[in-house]
Amino acid sequence: MYCPFCGAVDTKVVDSRLVANGDQVRRRRECLSCEERFTTFETADLIMPRLIKQDGSRQPFDENKLRAGMLRALEKRPVSLERLEEAVARIKRKLRAKGEREIESLTIGELVMNELRKLDEVAYIRFASVYRRFQDLNEFREEIERMAQEPAQE
Ligand SMILES: [Zn+2]
Repeated sequence: MYCPFCGAVDTKVVDSRLVANGDQVRRRRECLSCEERFTTFETADLIMPRLIKQDGSRQPFDENKLRAGMLRALEKRPVSLERLEEAVARIKRKLRAKGEREIESLTIGELVMNELRKLDEVAYIRFASVYRRFQDLNEFREEIERMAQEPAQE
């Protein structure tokens, strides 16, 4: 890539390391002309499947929306952003691993719930109550009992 300082074409990599759980490469580069240094981040640009909503409409996968929904559920809970990012990366990996071009949005909801369960049970119940539209306390109780009986999936 061009040097952002002088526009020269030739830059060399002086340092390279994996970040974000191995999903990103951070590179320090140095311009061969002006010797300024700058940092680039490299992420594999893999195509995510499109979502099929419950009404049948299609939407592109939106990682920010996914993260925002999980952050809402995790508000004021003792879970680090790093663990959230790892969960988001696992969800994306599982979606890609299905090898489908389109995926029901319900499938993503289930993956999110499974990850939240591993992170924090309160966040999980928050998310599930909205997602599954719990109507009354009994549905809460049933979900909590189900959670106690069935382990989260890997
Ligand atoms: Zn330069």
